[in-house]
Amino acid sequence: MAFVVEPPPRPSLAVDGTSERFPLHRIYCVGRNYAAHAREMGGDPERQPPFFFMKPADAAVDAGPDAAATIPYPPATSELHHEVELAVALAKGGRDIAPTNALGHVYGYATALDLTRRDLQREAKAAGRPWAFAKGFDRSAPVSPLRPAREVPKGRIWCRVDGETRQDADLADMIWSVAEVIAFASRSMEFQPGDLLLTGTPAGVGPLVRGARVEAGVTGLVPLALTIA
Ligand code: MN
Repeated sequence: MAFVVEPPPRPSLAVDGTSERFPLHRIYCVGRNYAAHAREMGGDPERQPPFFFMKPADAAVDAGPDAAATIPYPPATSELHHEVELAVALAKGGRDIAPTNALGHVYGYATALDLTRRDLQREAKAAGRPWAFAKGFDRSAPVSPLRPAREVPKGRIWCRVDGETRQDADLADMIWSVAEVIAFASRSMEFQPGDLLLTGTPAGVGPLVRGARVEAGVTGLVPLALTIA
């Protein structure tokens, strides 16, 4: 096929233990999936249906512990926040996926950050405007190398900044399970292979200043590390 301009490179993610990469199609993020974080953001931790926002696929950045990722402090904000999240990569698309079949669509899991321009998000919320510039900016989705697995990891999810533990929770505290999130979203749109889900963050989100060293992880997955430049 001929294109009228040079096509941009296809976004992709590293896969642990191989030089082959996971081709990224879309990034969906769950807005609120841990009760304590819902409370810290002034929300209602009741089990309401999950809601979603998106990041562009090319917002993803390789951020494994060996990759030494450096992320420039983003423009247009003075309040960059970390949100550690369990990332779920889909090998198989589909719509109206039953919760009992949902994990059969999974390729694997990784540790991710949903980097957020919190000041822009607060302004957007107050004005009833979309979150695109608060959440979907360049390099806003650092992801560790994927670990192939169907079953959802169990255990801790944590984030440290300059050696200080900021977020530390149990994946069992998720309001909506991975299978439920996949099933729910697939009733509104059709998943494609290469879709990535960020499944929400636990309490303890906070600011990242220039020079901050971020380490994050999920039990059983490849940890994430990066520096804010
Ligand atoms: Mn988030």
